[in-house]
Order: sequence, then C-alpha cells, then structure tokens
Amino acid sequence: MPRTRLVWQLFAGFCVVLSLALAAAWWVASVHLAGLADDAEFALLADAARGLAAGVRDGSSDPDRFAIRSRELREATGLEARLLPGGPDAPATVAAADDGPLVTEARAGRIARGSRYDSTTGRRLLTVAVPVATTPAVSPPAIVVASTDTAASDERLAAWQRRLLGAGLVVAAGAAAGGYAVARRMSRPVEALAGVATRMAEGDVGVPIPTGELAETASLSTALTAVREQLVERGLTIGRQGTQQEAVLGSMIEGVLAVDARQRIVGINRAAGELLGVEAGQAVGRPLQEVVRNPDLRRFALKAIDCREPVEDDLMLRGVRDRTIRLRGTALRDVSGEGGAVIVLNDVTDVQRLENVRRDFVANVSHELKTPIASIKGFVETLLDGAVEDPADARRFLGIVARQADRLAAIIEDLLALSRIEQREGAGNLPMEEVPLAGVIAAAVADCGPRATERSIRLEADCPADLVRAVNAPLLEQAVINLVDNAINYSEARRSVWITVAAEPAATDGAVLIRIRDEGCGIEAEHLPRLFERFYRVDKARSRNVGGTGLGLSIVKHIVQAHGGTVGVESTPGVGTTFTIRLPRS
Ligand code: ADP
Repeated sequence: MPRTRLVWQLFAGFCVVLSLALAAAWWVASVHLAGLADDAEFALLADAARGLAAGVRDGSSDPDRFAIRSRELREATGLEARLLPGGPDAPATVAAADDGPLVTEARAGRIARGSRYDSTTGRRLLTVAVPVATTPAVSPPAIVVASTDTAASDERLAAWQRRLLGAGLVVAAGAAAGGYAVARRMSRPVEALAGVATRMAEGDVGVPIPTGELAETASLSTALTAVREQLVERGLTIGRQGTQQEAVLGSMIEGVLAVDARQRIVGINRAAGELLGVEAGQAVGRPLQEVVRNPDLRRFALKAIDCREPVEDDLMLRGVRDRTIRLRGTALRDVSGEGGAVIVLNDVTDVQRLENVRRDFVANVSHELKTPIASIKGFVETLLDGAVEDPADARRFLGIVARQADRLAAIIEDLLALSRIEQREGAGNLPMEEVPLAGVIAAAVADCGPRATERSIRLEADCPADLVRAVNAPLLEQAVINLVDNAINYSEARRSVWITVAAEPAATDGAVLIRIRDEGCGIEAEHLPRLFERFYRVDKARSRNVGGTGLGLSIVKHIVQAHGGTVGVESTPGVGTTFTIRLPRS
C-alpha cells in the first residue's frame, strides 16, 4: 500500500483544522452581521413609524395627510407605511393578516417588530407597528405599521460576507503556507533519519547520522548510532569468524561440502573442490547436481539431509584414476527450520589400496612359505617312513629338504631385509657416507661375477672413478646386485649385461643414474606397473627355478626410496630390459 509522507499528513491535518476554524468564524460573523443589519433596519423603521405616528397625533388623524406623508416617505426611503385604526373594538380584518400579531401587540399599546418571508415577492419583510398615543395607552386610537423589504440590506450583507470570505481566504492561504513550512520543518529530520536508516540497511554504515533538534529525533539518532556501532562490531566479528572458518576449512585435508534443503551448495572447501573436480569458488549457490554430475552423491546428500543420525557411505569416482571417497554426512537444522547437511569427504583410495596390499602380502607370504614347508614335511615323513634306510634315497631326499630350507631361509632373509629397510626409510635415519660409486659397483660385480660366468654371461661395468656421492654403500650394493642377478637370471647364455653409471650435468640437478641393461627375455608392458610389488612375478616357475623369492625388486625399490631416489624400468619383450636407479644430488 502506498504510504503518505509525514509532511503531507501534518499539512493535511493542519488544513482541515484551519478550514473548520475559518468556516466557523465566517458563519458566526455572518450571523452576527445579519443581526446587526436587521437591528439597523428595525431602528430606521421604528423612527419613521414614530415620526408618522407623531404627525397623525398632531393632525388629529387626517388620513389624507398621512397618505401624503407616507408617499413622501416611500419615495425617499422605500418604506411602506399604513395607518390602522386602534382600540379594542377595531375590526380585526383591517389588520394585514400576515402582520396580525404585531398589530395586535401595537393595539395593546406596545411597539412591536417582526420579520417574515413574503412568498409572493420572494423577499423578507421587516415590519414595525407603533401605537399612536400621547401617553402610553392600552388602547391607542390608531397604529402606524411601517415595513420594508430587506433586499437592499441583504445585498449589503452579501457584499460584507464576500469581503469577509476574501479576507478569510487570504488569511487561510498565509496560514497554509506557514503550516506547510512548519510541517516540513517537523518532518525533515524524520525523513533524513529514515534515509540514513535505509542507507545503513543497504550496507553503507559510514553515512553520517544527523542529530535533530527535537527530543524525539535526537533520541532516534542516538539509537541509530548505537545500532550502527553494533552493526559494525557484528560485521567485524562475523568477518573474523568467516576468515578463521575459511582458514580452517581451507587447510583441511578432508573435503567439506555444505548443502541446503534444496541441495544448493552453500559452502565447499578447496579439498572438496579438488576431490570432486570443481572450482570451489564458482560452485557456491549452485545446485549440487549441476556442479557434480554424480547421482550417488546426490542420493547421499538427500539421505544426509533427511536422516537424524549421521550417515556414512563410500562413493566411487570414475576417472583417469578411479578413486574411492568415504562420505560422512550430518543433517543441519537452523532456527528457521531450514534444513541442510554437511558432508565430509575423505579420499580412502590409498588407504584401501594399502589395506589390499597388506592383505595380499600376508596371503603371499603364507603361500610362499607353505610350498617349501609342505615339501620339507613330505620328504621328512617319507624318510621317517623308511626311506632313511636306503642311503641313496635318503641322500636325495635330504638334498631336496636342504634346498627347500635354503629357499625358506632366502625368503625370510629377504623379508627381514625389506622390513629393516622400511623401518629405516620410515625413521629417515639411514646412515650415509660419501663414497666413490665405482667402489660400490665393483663390489656388486665381484659378487655377481661367478654367477655370470656360470651362465656364460658377459658382465660389463662402466663408472667414472671420481663420482662420489653420499650413500649407504652396503644397501646400494645390495640393490645393484639384485638388479644384476635378475639380468643374469632372465637372460639366455652368451648374452651381455651392462652396468653404467653417469651423473647428470650439475647445471640440471646433478642426479646420478645407475643403469642395468640386459638382452634377456624382456617384460610385457602390462606387468611393468606392478613389477616392484612384493612377490610379484611375471613367470612364477622360472623365478623359482632361478631361486627367486619375488622380493628382489621390492627390496631395490625401498633401498632407492630410502636414498630419496626413484627406480624405473623400460623393457621390450624379446629384446631386453633396462632398470634405472636415479639418485638425487642430496
Ligand atoms: P624374483 O626373485 O622372482 O626375481 P624380483 O622381484 O627380483 O623377483 O623380480 C620380479 C619379477 O620381475 C621376476 O619374477 C621376473 O619375472 C621379472 N624380472 C625382473 N628382472 C627382470 C629382467 N631383467 N628381465 C626379465 N624379467 C625380469
């Protein structure tokens, strides 16, 4: 509904009061003026009638003389005068019917006056009846009745009324102008304060607040000032809280996503944006299904909004690398009853993978140990059952038992080595020493040489003599031995194995690259990603034949990682394989 401004309200009220006052004053003045005019007319009539009556008295009631004088009077003043017989016996018919009461009163010896409306002429008539008597007599011999119409005096009265009205209007105009000025003066501070309040509501808290002269506006401006101070204080508090909240949410590893009851995103932190592959800054305010096209997440959000209890579920995110996100949702209820939910997202892909690795490892260890133990157990039982009596069989079986025991020992030794390296890797306290790498390579070659010769494989090593790096020599030697052993084991006779060591130019990063290249069977590309896992073997039978435990490459990987380096593999089936250890300059 459109509202009237205060100035017009005040002004309209003032105008109504002013109009009523002026109308009342005009009416009272008009009535009073009319009364005064009538009194003056009556006085004139009475004087004229009295004069005629005196003439009648002196002239002993000569009707002709009266007629002459009354005609003169009519011509001079417009008055009508009549002479009527008096006395108690005078016939009533002589009295003009309309002036009957006046005539009756005059005949009783009193001067009477009255007014009436003459319907034939449409005018008001004033009449005075005067008894003709020398002394006040109850029955005068005659009476003089003088009357006049009020046309002339009414005209004068109307002229006065017009003048009065004109003056009233002039006064009213002046008063209205004054009233408007007062109304403006009263409403201006209120309007100014209303304007200030509006600008403050729009966020402009710096707007100056006028004090106002009136007590009411002064207290209003004081209250507004207090409100502004509170607004500023609260704004600062909210800003501080927002910044803190943003910092906390932004630094969280877990993703946090808040949605309202209509599944519109009301908050999302950087981690959640990264997990869901969305720009966190642009997602706020938009529907969840529009930002993340994943029906499972939408269903989960709905469930979280509706459920009283916290809910939990895993979400699969398909992509270049499939990821498992653990979702924990809690419903939100604010005071207005509007619902919503906060969802915490955790990338559990690695945790799950590690869990799988651990499970696989236990299963693999059990499996690896089971075969030699079963074999040992079987041959020992055979020996106990009597085979021990036959020296040839006993010798053969004990040889097998010894090989299986060696195999068990090798597996356990490798597992222990792996665990030791992992521990040191985790603790980060691997003892390092500046040593020439040529010495490390020479030691490895010396270790592997006999096995290479045994299999007719040529072993060549090339390492700059002056290349010195801080390494754990025994461990690095172990890694090189493992790789060279594999190169020998998975190559046919009369092939070569090269060990080359080179340093990248110091200008780049000065890293050392140790390459072990063979001309062996090679590895299919599908196996390469999992090659360094524990117990992973491409060809199980061949690995067992060559006394492999399936842990060699895993040990290499952990030794290199403990040095802060990386290990990689390139291979072409049927052509050969190259393993590269990359050690940073440290
Ligand atoms: P293993 O004890 O079985 O050799 P490793 O961890 O050392 O275990 O190696 C894992 C698997 O990788 C081996 O079983 C083998 O199939 C493959 N492999 C390792 N080195 C080579 C290589 N130089 N040429 C071909 N295959 C290799």
